[in-house]
Amino acid sequence: MTAIQDHPLVEVRNVRHFYGKAGENNLLVLDDVDLTLFDNEIVGLLGRSGSGKSTLLRSIAGLITPTGGSVTFPHADSSVSMVFQSFALFPWLTVQQNVEVGLEAKRVAPATRRKRALAAIDMIGLDGFENAYPKELSGGMRQRVGLARALVVDPSILLMDEPFSALDVLTAETLRTDLLDLWSEGRMPIKSILMVTHNIEEAVLMCDRILVFSSNPGRVVAEIKVDLPQPRNRQEPAFRALVE
Ligand code: ADP
Ligand code: MG
Repeated sequence: MTAIQDHPLVEVRNVRHFYGKAGENNLLVLDDVDLTLFDNEIVGLLGRSGSGKSTLLRSIAGLITPTGGSVTFPHADSSVSMVFQSFALFPWLTVQQNVEVGLEAKRVAPATRRKRALAAIDMIGLDGFENAYPKELSGGMRQRVGLARALVVDPSILLMDEPFSALDVLTAETLRTDLLDLWSEGRMPIKSILMVTHNIEEAVLMCDRILVFSSNPGRVVAEIKVDLPQPRNRQEPAFRALVE
């Protein structure tokens, strides 16, 4: 799997962001950030805590408008979903209702909503837990709900903000593998993934490229191309030959 370099899905250009009122004690969090997410790749964003990674992801997701610069989606049919570190589930809603939230905003009819939510829940391995509440689930299962809610809208771009960092090592590994399997087998519509992580090993295992982010202010200062056989390529004959 290689990125399709002439097919950018997201273009971030000269993005700056200040928190606080203009002119007074404002905090420049992002300065002149440039990045491109191409079709068919997984890109990691690695940087210190407080360097502005979440701010950048929220800008790409459209949850905040950066103070300056632009975020564009060259393809008209591009859509973005986001997965959060803390899962961001509604505790008073069941698994199915949490997943349907993604579709309610899009005014999908209830019967279709139900069908699509159940399909996403099944795909992500939560079959049988439709009516459970988040507090009844383990951390790994909660993040599966977060993933199902992101995937139910059929996005082409998945943004993940430290999606595995609240999970123990084994749970994180299982979830990562399941997600990569779904992606590599084309069982979900995601074309490309941009993922924030603190964990360099995780970045190397998952990503085609790793963008290194500086602090104060945040900016992409280096790019590492990962040239290892990725676990997601294990269906490919060349990689199978390596490991068998
Ligand atoms: P990261 O995800 O890399 O840890 P963030 O984007 O969350 O970084 O935060 C970058 C900086 O902006 C931090 O100093 C943080 O305290 C500050 N910050 C984040 N969100 C807000 C906000 N809503 N208002 C003011 N400051 C914020
Ligand atoms: Mg963050």
